[in-house]
Amino acid sequence: MLNLEEKFPRHTLTFGPTPIEKLERLSKHLGGAVELYAKREDCNSGLAFGGNKVRKLEYLVPEAIRQNCDTLVTIGGVQSNHTRQVAAVAAKIGMKCRLVQESWVPFNDAVYDRVGNILMSRLMGAEVELVDEGFDIGVRESWERALEDVKAKGGKPYAIPAGASDHPLGGLGFVGFAEELRQQEAELGFAFDYIVVCSVTGSTQAGMVVGFAADGRARRVIGIDASATPEQTHAQILRIARATADKVGLGQAIAPEDVVLKTEYAYPEYGVPSAETNDAMRLAARLEGMMTDPVYEGKSMQGMIDLVRKGFFPAGAKVLYAHLGGVPAINAYSYLYRNG
Ligand SMILES: *Cc1c(COP(=O)(O)O)cnc(C)c1O
Repeated sequence: MLNLEEKFPRHTLTFGPTPIEKLERLSKHLGGAVELYAKREDCNSGLAFGGNKVRKLEYLVPEAIRQNCDTLVTIGGVQSNHTRQVAAVAAKIGMKCRLVQESWVPFNDAVYDRVGNILMSRLMGAEVELVDEGFDIGVRESWERALEDVKAKGGKPYAIPAGASDHPLGGLGFVGFAEELRQQEAELGFAFDYIVVCSVTGSTQAGMVVGFAADGRARRVIGIDASATPEQTHAQILRIARATADKVGLGQAIAPEDVVLKTEYAYPEYGVPSAETNDAMRLAARLEGMMTDPVYEGKSMQGMIDLVRKGFFPAGAKVLYAHLGGVPAINAYSYLYRNG
């Protein structure tokens, strides 16, 4: 519909269209009136467990290669899934990787900075710098310093902002998700009524809003904020969606109301699960064998479950949960889940 493949070079890093599965037991447990499905972005690539950032990075890598860059430079929290995916992509395309990892989460499991995502980034050869700064999805000084440092040492950095979001090409990957889903829906013989997605740095939802605006479903994309700074996240989603709409030639304006962001599930703060988040994670794990994490997907799972229980989705609705990955981070919360 938007012919992304004809307009933008894409470097294939994923296996192909991600699988869609029905969450039969979870749907039934919640009363059976709403049919829940999951599209498994967490199984999208062999690159260090994959996840939503790989889909975005497919559109940034051609530019990094074209500009003859030799080092991918990015930023995130200590247990960032994004930085781990950038480290994997750098290894795969033969570039160096420089990661700034800030103290975005006030959580002090003994092995927090040794396991999961950061362990993998180190194993993949990324240069990891821990910086004592708090959570913020905006442009950070520490990241700009790292870019300067790579240059000062004679390297050619390619700058990737947090979550690969606030970047001219950052929204394209999830426009592609919408195009891909339309094809899958044609094969399945039905269309989804709602798509549930976790949002923090914003380009995942922004891409979806643009991609689904093309068939009138922008407002059926139900964002679940996990940043706990929802005004900033909403503004960033809207800004990226508008820039992406221009870029792909959507031909219609994106209104603030097209960005639906549920703000009541991010408590107590970014990276810290509530009792309800943990309950949702356990429910998905025990009914479906589907793992989620306490930072992102546990909160969107919590949100989806709560919305089903509250009757937000009409009876008979087909709801697609976009599982964006993130499970490696559970290792950093070992104390919380010591008894399951
Ligand atoms: C990054 C991430 C998100 C949020 O996506 P944004 O594009 O930053 O809004 C959600 N879930 C997981 C597992 C992530 O790694």
